[in-house]
Amino acid sequence: MTEMTGSDGMVARFGGDEFAVIANGFSSETEVGPAVAAFLRQLSRPFTLMGREVTVTANVGIAVYPKHSTTASELLLDASAAMMFSKVAGRSQFRFFDPIMHRQSEERLTLESELRRGIDRDELLLHYQPQVDIRTGRIVGLEALVRWLHPTRGLVPPGQFIPIAEQTGLIVPLGEWVLRRACMDLKRMEKMGIDSVRVGVNVSPHQFERDIVGAMRQALTDSGVTPHLIDVEITESTLINDPERVIEDLTQLKALGIHISLDDFGTGFSSLSYLKRFPADTLKVDRSFVIELAENPKDEAIANAIIALAHSMGMTALAEGVEEMAQYEVLRLADCDVVQGYLFSTAMSFDDVVVHLQRGTLLLPENAEAAAH
Ligand code: C2E
Ligand code: MG
Ligand code: MG
Repeated sequence: MTEMTGSDGMVARFGGDEFAVIANGFSSETEVGPAVAAFLRQLSRPFTLMGREVTVTANVGIAVYPKHSTTASELLLDASAAMMFSKVAGRSQFRFFDPIMHRQSEERLTLESELRRGIDRDELLLHYQPQVDIRTGRIVGLEALVRWLHPTRGLVPPGQFIPIAEQTGLIVPLGEWVLRRACMDLKRMEKMGIDSVRVGVNVSPHQFERDIVGAMRQALTDSGVTPHLIDVEITESTLINDPERVIEDLTQLKALGIHISLDDFGTGFSSLSYLKRFPADTLKVDRSFVIELAENPKDEAIANAIIALAHSMGMTALAEGVEEMAQYEVLRLADCDVVQGYLFSTAMSFDDVVVHLQRGTLLLPENAEAAAH
């Protein structure tokens, strides 16, 4: 801390998990960023607590005296607003205050209350993106992707409201709605004679802090859907807080017959030692490794390694965000099993996706474009 605060400074606990640092001794604002970055790096180093390795991370909002404000209370409000924005950017981030943040905070508050109302008023809907077997061109799965049909804003993509839902806890009722809707849609498909396509739902880490197994059981009972048609997509970050409990919940979901996918694989923090104990069926190669797959040998090496890792652990490899024929070719040669991306299809409404499924459309790259329209 002394490193960070220069000649003198002060740290105080400010709220439940909030700390305020008053740091003096900087001769210019440009020195503050690197000092905070070094502090965050130091803080995120694992340490041992009662025989277990634990990691803590922090997010930092920075307000500068006298540039941003000249009163203590306003500086704290500014730092707090900047801290909220740093959280949106992810773990271990920091942000300097910008006056626009107060306006954006108000906008976020509005969006939060509108989303709360939107969930109750049934303004959410699910779109489905096909997942295609690379060998046969058949649609073997659908990823359910939530959209919000706002009465005046129109169709809002999840990137604009999922982070707010995550921060406010609204993600729990939202996630339960998604689960129920996906199960009901699966049942509708079954009645139409489509009974072998799996539906993937994205499940937030916060849903594991509640009773995800209970919510799943309820959705299954209410809809009468066969559990093996449900695919729960989680990200590596789900394992960070309480891996033992999450593994226990996943084991229970698996015992119900549910399929588990590890989404955005390779971008998170989890260690490979968890993967060993982790009951996943599919590894989803993240889009960030697919984007330059055909041009960047390092991305090709990573994709190959993830696919080989999946296979050697008895899992299926799925690559997401496949947009170009050249990426598809690399993945095919790497023996990837399933592909998902705009080369085959974007996410579609339930009615549109059902048309493809009933026709038995093959989504091979050469006719994928025609099928998506
Ligand atoms: P994700 O689970 O990794 O979903 C894949 C995202 O990549 C989707 O964006 C999809 O439309 C997009 N995508 C698929 N193929 C391509 C492609 O070829 N190129 C490009 N550029 N993008 C492609 P979307 O629908 O905007 O969802 C974004 C994220 O929002 C999802 O990432 C997921 O993390 C979250 N999300 C979506 N629905 C839900 C939900 O029901 N619950 C939760 N907790 N999160 C959700
Ligand atoms: Mg996903
Ligand atoms: Mg993903």
